[in-house]
Amino acid sequence: MSSYDELLKKAFDPEAFRREGHRVVDILADFLAKSAPETRERVLAFEDPDAMAASWAGRFGSGPSVAFSDLLPEILARSNDLLHPRFIGHQCTTALPLAALGGFAGQFLNNGSAIYEMGPVNVAMERQLVRWMTGLAGWGLAADGVFTSGGSIGNLTALLAARQAMAERNVWTAGVAAEPNLAVLVSEQCHYSVKRAAAVIGLGEDAAVPVPVDERFHMRPDGLEAAFAGAVRAGLRPIALVANACSTATGSYDDLEAAAAFAGARGLWLHVDGAHGAAALLSPKYRSLLRGLDRADSVIWDAHKNMLMPALITAVLFREGGHSYEAFSQKASYLFEKEAREEWYNFAHRTMECTKTMMGMRLFVSLAAYGTDFFAGYVTAVYDLAREFAGLLRASGDFETAVEPESNIVCFRHLKRGETDLDALQRRLRRRLLEKGNFYVVQAVLRGRTWLRCTLINPRTTIADLAALLGEIRKIASE
Ligand SMILES: *Cc1c(COP(=O)(O)O)cnc(C)c1O
Repeated sequence: MSSYDELLKKAFDPEAFRREGHRVVDILADFLAKSAPETRERVLAFEDPDAMAASWAGRFGSGPSVAFSDLLPEILARSNDLLHPRFIGHQCTTALPLAALGGFAGQFLNNGSAIYEMGPVNVAMERQLVRWMTGLAGWGLAADGVFTSGGSIGNLTALLAARQAMAERNVWTAGVAAEPNLAVLVSEQCHYSVKRAAAVIGLGEDAAVPVPVDERFHMRPDGLEAAFAGAVRAGLRPIALVANACSTATGSYDDLEAAAAFAGARGLWLHVDGAHGAAALLSPKYRSLLRGLDRADSVIWDAHKNMLMPALITAVLFREGGHSYEAFSQKASYLFEKEAREEWYNFAHRTMECTKTMMGMRLFVSLAAYGTDFFAGYVTAVYDLAREFAGLLRASGDFETAVEPESNIVCFRHLKRGETDLDALQRRLRRRLLEKGNFYVVQAVLRGRTWLRCTLINPRTTIADLAALLGEIRKIASE
């Protein structure tokens, strides 16, 4: 036998797969077992990018080099440890272990889900998830939507649908030159992907007209009229309003009732960027943060943020499901839409992606195994923790919060006595924290001031971890 034939036999040998699979799962389970902060290694072991890249050079060649299970311990040791309770930086969640197994099985099956034929089970599961999520949004049976790879593509997809629905000409076929003055009103605090989407769909970034925010970073309802009038004076025709639920930097929820009232009065499409915060719909305690969402035209919801899912899985949902078919419709005629709707199961009509992973399956099996109450409990717990942390900061006397947290995002800073440049202090503190590697926090610039920012997205983070963070910061500040 040639070595190719030998390796082929080994690659698909069920017993070899079983052995290697068990070894891999054992290594991961041991990693998971180190749940207490003291037993874990560093949150992240920052290495110089060039040195890091160089260390992986020459590790594979024309024949087998190293078994995956032999490489895995090094991969774990040198990767960011999102399972660490003190990983509280970006809005990247520790993955629910079961969902990671779902992802593994999905990749094993590799049923791409662009069309029903390619991935029937996943397509059916995603259909049920969309039903469930649109129900939580308060929408009726006319609602529909799809899953896509990330909130950035989600915002793009929703704005494409808005453009097609609101433009007077068929911009999809004729191009934006046919209607060059379209614009969208966006919260000054919108995620950069919204402005990027405005540019990608041909309106131009300048056509993303900012609406000012209040002192808590909510879009100001009384600023909407002025932004609209300003856009019109500049020769633009606003077609949509994009609100945050919640914003990325501070986790602030816009007043969706006011946004819906304004959009209704002015004939605008209301898109809600719920990438981070739509999961609050699951929590009886916090779902009122999204009051007014039932009147929106579209919303995006990242399950890889506040739903413990491994990246990526984003729902793009439409109150009037027909619009889901307009985002990428070569022919926007009613007929095409009708034909396409009858083919709800061929998602390729409605997403940017052609080949797609079995993303819904991961969420579906997790909901099936643990139930929706578990996820509701999770959202409530991490939102509660943010409020508790804010209380701790307030009571400390030497820290302050930028705003009272509404979600699980908290921006705060250390007020070291006698320090004249507080912004430089926060930057120094974060850099030292990164170097030491025992906590991961990020930073945000709000109105020109620098803040430390954390997202309490890991369900195993406790208030004791956060108290320890404050202690660590004080220690670094006094060094
Ligand atoms: C994270 C985020 C996005 C981008 O989502 P990705 O899944 O990272 O592409 C968009 N909007 C808001 C408000 C976000 O927080």
